[in-house]
Amino acid sequence: MTIRNGRDYLAALGDSRSIYFEGQRIDDVRTHPAFAKATASFAKLYDFQASPGNLELMSFDVGNGRRANRAWQMPRSYDDLVKRRAALEAWSELNFGMLGRSPDHVASTITGMAMGVDVFERFSAKSAKAVRDYYHYAREHDLFISYVLQSPTIDRTKRADQQSALDIACAVVDEDSSGITVRGAKTLGTSAVMSDEIFVGAIAPLAKEEENFAVSFAIPLATKGVQLLSRKSYEAEARSEFDYPLSTRYDENDAVVYFHDVKIPWDRVFVSRNIAAARAQWHETPTHVFQNYQSQVRLMVKMRFLAGIARRITETLGTFDMPPVKSKLGYISAHATMVESMVNGMEAAGRWHGDYYIPCREHLYAAQVLTQEMYPKIISAIRELAGGAVIMLPSSIEDFANPELTKIIESTQGSMTRSAEERVKIFRLVWDATGSEFASRHLQYEMFYGGGAHITSGHAFRTFNWDRAVGMVDRLERTYDLKGSTDPENIAAGLSLAS
Ligand SMILES: Cc1cc2nc3c(=O)[nH]c(=O)nc-3n(C[C@H](O)[C@H](O)[C@H](O)COP(=O)(O)OP(=O)(O)OC[C@H]3O[C@@H](n4cnc5c(N)ncnc54)[C@H](O)[C@@H]3O)c2cc1C
Repeated sequence: MTIRNGRDYLAALGDSRSIYFEGQRIDDVRTHPAFAKATASFAKLYDFQASPGNLELMSFDVGNGRRANRAWQMPRSYDDLVKRRAALEAWSELNFGMLGRSPDHVASTITGMAMGVDVFERFSAKSAKAVRDYYHYAREHDLFISYVLQSPTIDRTKRADQQSALDIACAVVDEDSSGITVRGAKTLGTSAVMSDEIFVGAIAPLAKEEENFAVSFAIPLATKGVQLLSRKSYEAEARSEFDYPLSTRYDENDAVVYFHDVKIPWDRVFVSRNIAAARAQWHETPTHVFQNYQSQVRLMVKMRFLAGIARRITETLGTFDMPPVKSKLGYISAHATMVESMVNGMEAAGRWHGDYYIPCREHLYAAQVLTQEMYPKIISAIRELAGGAVIMLPSSIEDFANPELTKIIESTQGSMTRSAEERVKIFRLVWDATGSEFASRHLQYEMFYGGGAHITSGHAFRTFNWDRAVGMVDRLERTYDLKGSTDPENIAAGLSLAS
């Protein structure tokens, strides 16, 4: 049985993809100082799944002597869902929850689409076949797919078709018997530069005039005409692992993706010029729930890590035994447990989509609303525990190489539990998790990866069981009026209070 390993993944990245960074087209994402270490971190995920001892945990048999990551598994029971989660969790633990768009994220999207292929069938048999075939192709090659679902807007008061330049947002500009042609940009391609393929979709509601923007497809990143404009690299600026242990390894990057009249063959087109299908692919299939469930599993791991960081801060500073400090630690750990409980709840209250058992969407959307609000508070609580210790640090590891400075560092940086070097080491990590530019991007990520609060709370509103909630109100109101109790049992018992 074979399964994709890190070497296979890295070999596939040696293609002709067009990535721009600091004004230049880069030659090779695997060796470029802006991306090499993050790329190596993704390769480690594949090595982990291919390690013989992890095969059962991480993968399942997909036939033809191959196995694929469990992210591609369609759960047919609660137990399947939990097994699949164990794989997502194990991968996240490898990167401490810092790789938001690891390959299991969009694998969850494509698997969700395939579980809901009946919905695509309703709109077009050709699209449904494309979804089915792409799922099998991606699963068998264990592809790392990133996605871009948002359109850039210049003028928010206008629809996409009314913007000053019609090629701002990616839209269908032509169509023939072999496929569609798309032109324009999509955002925000997290980990796109390091992935094999990109999935493009439209998730925001569209007006009837925006039909050309109602498109979804997936193509290799090396497709002619696809151009990626990377954001700045925190990895490139982080000079040592000791000073920036997270920025140097897990800067998954984010990119704007531009399509220069790119031809998409029909077998890769899932939605074209169909507003109802563009919306249904997310919310009538398990897709949206499945991809965001992966994000909550990852966040669960990250929260444990952050709780660990909080505790180490207090042990290092010698504040651990102070009652208010313990209560702050309790506040942080309670939130870590809350995220885990919500993941458990989504699974326990799961529902059926045909033959497939998927996480409960009401629980998922509640978790999204609460966690995007929670994350900044937890980061702030950790920083509160740290005080100035995260700032009062040597300028870089270079200071340790100067004997004159080492003497001062040793006398000023130590603590009751750690040597000077150990104390600098933990506080460097604390800063990279809570205050560095990398950490700040993470804050923005947790607040916006699934849309702003007005979007996530809209999903929570839409899926909450309002009938049950208002039914209770109605039930109580039916039991009394101006004359007193209308409840026959109360009247019979003489419990009607009005005369
Ligand atoms: C680090 C990071 C990585 C991401 N990665 C990806 C990715 O890989 N793929 C992907 O597709 N997307 C990704 N996203 C999400 C996506 O690109 C958008 O950032 C996200 O959907 C929010 O949209 P926006 O940035 O336009 O913010 P907006 O929707 O404009 O929200 C910004 C603020 O404007 C206000 N606002 C705007 N509209 C309203 C309204 N209707 N009602 C009330 N208030 C409003 C609110 O204050 C809101 O918080 C990522 C985002 C971040 C930050």
